[in-house]
Amino acid sequence: MKLKDKFIKLMFYGGLDKKDYEDVQDILSEKNSRMLFLTGLICMVLFLAMFLSTFFSSRADSMEELRLRSRMIYVFMIFVCAIAMMIREQQKYHENRFIIMEWYLFLTLLFGFAIWAGTYNQPYYPSTTFFVFLFALPFLIIERPIRLSIYLIGISAIFLTCSYQIKTADLFELDFLNCLCFLYLSIAFSIVMMAFKYKEVIQKIKIEEQRDRDDLTGLLNKAAIEREVCKCLEGKEKGYLFIIDIDNFKYVNDQYGHLFGDAVISAYAKSLEEVFGTSSLIGRFGGDEFIVFVKQDSLDDMSRLFEQVKKKMDTTICFPVQGEKHPTISVGATFFDGHDHDYKELLDLADQALYEVKHEGKNQIKIRVI
Ligand code: GH3
Ligand code: MG
Repeated sequence: MKLKDKFIKLMFYGGLDKKDYEDVQDILSEKNSRMLFLTGLICMVLFLAMFLSTFFSSRADSMEELRLRSRMIYVFMIFVCAIAMMIREQQKYHENRFIIMEWYLFLTLLFGFAIWAGTYNQPYYPSTTFFVFLFALPFLIIERPIRLSIYLIGISAIFLTCSYQIKTADLFELDFLNCLCFLYLSIAFSIVMMAFKYKEVIQKIKIEEQRDRDDLTGLLNKAAIEREVCKCLEGKEKGYLFIIDIDNFKYVNDQYGHLFGDAVISAYAKSLEEVFGTSSLIGRFGGDEFIVFVKQDSLDDMSRLFEQVKKKMDTTICFPVQGEKHPTISVGATFFDGHDHDYKELLDLADQALYEVKHEGKNQIKIRVI
């Protein structure tokens, strides 16, 4: 890849591909909202300390007006921090772009304060608060470096304009040099830090994927399907739980070998995915057994769905011996009505239904209602 393309990828997607960048948004949303909460908390303590310090300040009485104004600004900033912290509670599950918008709003108020503190509040001293915030920013937020850089440049321009208007030429020169220095460091850090943070998140996703997936079929494994179905039960999402077992599968293994047996299991997994789609949870329970949780409160024709699964098998796998048909499946089902039932209870019912099917000649579907 050309250097220019690499740089563009780094600035726009933190060095990831666009697809990977989109995949990490959920985790970024969680991380960004957590950091917003922490930053709000830290800044709140800071502003509280500043507010209290005004009561012990040695400023002359003639500065009373300034002191009162400072107090009001500190109280306002404490309020801003409290709102930033509350956002986490309210918007835990919000999309990353909303969290980022809230971050920018919060940052603008923080930088607004820093500009006021470094210019209007103390026109005879060099600014420090503004540079501390400028430098700290890349460590707090996970955001596209391009947007962060543009924001930092914009906010620095506002700072310099204020400094130019308020301060003496010497002090402005000092602010200007400091600002350039910290701006450069902040942009450089944001490019490096974002690349590092995005990579870390994508690795985390890959590790979780590996942990949750069944090696042979790529479906959710036993632990992951249990966790995901439990989430639905906790959220009172009504749905059907199916246990599917391949009939006489030992025969396939004995007749054609384990490798072909593996191919049959994979083909069934693929057929289930095609029929039940991404809105359902599909997992391999182990051996030749699968679990499907369909998040719907009524299914007109369950048997038709499983007929489709079997039909798909005809096109997915070819048996080595001509005329030999793929094994059929037996299905035990139960319905979760949104009331207080746990996963084990539902699994037990579906398993009982499956047991009955197996004893009544296999290749059927049976439902047991709670
Ligand atoms: P039934 O009709 O009663 O379900 O009998 P069955 O022959 O299908 O046997 P059962 O479901 O009790 O056992 C499943 C068999 O699947 C047992 C085991 O040898 C085989 N098996 C388990 N895991 C794998 C696997 O990953 N690959 C292959 N090829 N076979 C497996
Ligand atoms: Mg079986």
